[in-house]
Amino acid sequence: MMRKFTGDTLLVATHNQGKLEEIAHLLDPLGIAVTSAKDHGLPEPAETGTTFVENARIKAHAAAKATGLPALSDDSGIVIDALDGAPGVYTADWAETPTGRDFVMAMTRAHDELEKVGAPFPRTARFCCTLVLAWPDGHDEVFPGVMEGEIVWPMRGDQGHGYDPIFQPAGYTLTFGEMDRWEKNRISHRADAFRKLVAALGR
Ligand code: IMP
Repeated sequence: MMRKFTGDTLLVATHNQGKLEEIAHLLDPLGIAVTSAKDHGLPEPAETGTTFVENARIKAHAAAKATGLPALSDDSGIVIDALDGAPGVYTADWAETPTGRDFVMAMTRAHDELEKVGAPFPRTARFCCTLVLAWPDGHDEVFPGVMEGEIVWPMRGDQGHGYDPIFQPAGYTLTFGEMDRWEKNRISHRADAFRKLVAALGR
């Protein structure tokens, strides 16, 4: 049986401000406030897993154990078919520089690698999101979400975060970077995972 969450504030195990805002926006209609790993001064655990669910589990359990509170984590990324699934769990790593994350660099790399392998069009890809809700006693529930689409070039739009400007969701003419937040939050991989989470939140 799925365990329900009955509180009114959820600890979100992320240091990523973009993600935190997106999750806060999705939880707000449910009457759930969020507090972040950063607010609690938690260290960022090493994401040593090779799958989204492994990394999401690492983050959620670390935060739940450190605070004694139920914690929600999100591990996500973009999976590009013609690159054998890259960058996948290394989506954020592709943006790392000595002075912080550079997503223009990461998006350029994705495009360059697609050109290098002569990938045909449409350059199919999907955003994946795995949410894990973990309790301090070690129990967890896992909620996967996905949004299919394709990689486009050049980058379009300045809404959103990360790889949004090169991802055009299937059935749409706008990239995630061109969509307003409300529209993206309605159809995204994270929204898909959240629909599954809502049942566990007992709302
Ligand atoms: P994580 O923090 O290890 O889960 O890294 C996930 C990375 O995937 C983020 O840094 C973003 O670059 C990317 N990503 C995940 N979700 C989205 C999204 O909705 N739009 C754009 N990029 C995303």
